[in-house]
Amino acid sequence: MVAVTAFLAEARDGDEIVLDGATGEVYLNPEASVKAEYENKKNTFMEEKKDLEQYIGKPSVTKDGVQVEIVANIGKPEDVEKVLQYDGEGIGLFRTEFLFMDRTAMPTEDEQFEAYRKVAAAMKGKPVIIRTLDIGGDKEIPYMGLEKDENPFLGYRAVRFCLDRREDVYKPQLRALLRASAFGNIRIMVPLVTCIEEYRQAKALVEELKGELDSQGIPYKKDIQVGIMVETAAASLIADIFAKEADFFSIGTNDLTQYTMAVDRGNKKVSYLYSTFNPAVLRSIKHIIASGREAGIMVGMCGEAASDPMMIPLLLAFGLNEFSMSASAILKARKMVTEYSVAELQAVASKAMTFATAAEVEQYMKAFVEKVNL
Ligand code: PEP
Ligand code: MG
Repeated sequence: MVAVTAFLAEARDGDEIVLDGATGEVYLNPEASVKAEYENKKNTFMEEKKDLEQYIGKPSVTKDGVQVEIVANIGKPEDVEKVLQYDGEGIGLFRTEFLFMDRTAMPTEDEQFEAYRKVAAAMKGKPVIIRTLDIGGDKEIPYMGLEKDENPFLGYRAVRFCLDRREDVYKPQLRALLRASAFGNIRIMVPLVTCIEEYRQAKALVEELKGELDSQGIPYKKDIQVGIMVETAAASLIADIFAKEADFFSIGTNDLTQYTMAVDRGNKKVSYLYSTFNPAVLRSIKHIIASGREAGIMVGMCGEAASDPMMIPLLLAFGLNEFSMSASAILKARKMVTEYSVAELQAVASKAMTFATAAEVEQYMKAFVEKVNL
């Protein structure tokens, strides 16, 4: 829950609060009827959670035999515990910026190596996609000495920053990632790419560091994959070009929606435009998946849309291989996957793509999902 400032000003120590993280509603000193309603909701939620445990250890496979991977988004090595608890099939996004936040200096190469090694080892050979530093935009790190950008989301961030600060920031991180790759199935992911040169430069750095490690006799995964986040309109439009060189794609719908719709993802005044169901965003997603699949590379998604019950049928129909989400959403997503047949979903997706507005798509998908669940 964010942006509840007026509410916080009114709340006092000892007040009772009902907080509904699913809908974004909060009640200060709720009436008895509201409390009762939420006691019920809580019980239903706990029952559902218990019921979902039957999906632990089951494959994420559709009724017609299409196997996908349901993996987790994490921010810290400690988060792995929950991923294992909810039977994540890997890590689809490790947001490494959290290792750099809330401290006064950059984590050293050795500190980073230890964090990445821990995650890779704990996941025991399952894929662990680690995203290189994605700061700037909405994520500030004071000790990096970044000047305030006039348009932070269009400015000096993520791979742009890393390629500029390659000696003190990017190389130590990439070296730590390579060293840790000897302990598990680490894959490197480059965020916010807009043109192929950025990918090539990152990849060249990885190759250079591999040579350095070779000469020092330090082990690493020789065939480590280097993929990209597809989260800008530019990367989406030339996804076919990226697919020829990148080892995998992961679609970042949080940013892809922002950059496609030209809508600041944190600005409440324009949030009515921020919908992944908008036909423009849907076409973009469909195109990215098709481009990746055509080139034979894995296409995943690590934005919020990957766990949206109304989006999952569409993503299955488009051919998405990997769904990455918060650990607590994994079993529900697996249940949904097992209830669908990709062949049957083709007609649903084709129909969904005929609508002109996000509202119509959402309404249609809501009705479809409710019907299946009946
Ligand atoms: C995204 O943009 O969809 C994403 C997963 O990355 P972040 O939310 O960290 O920008
Ligand atoms: Mg992003």
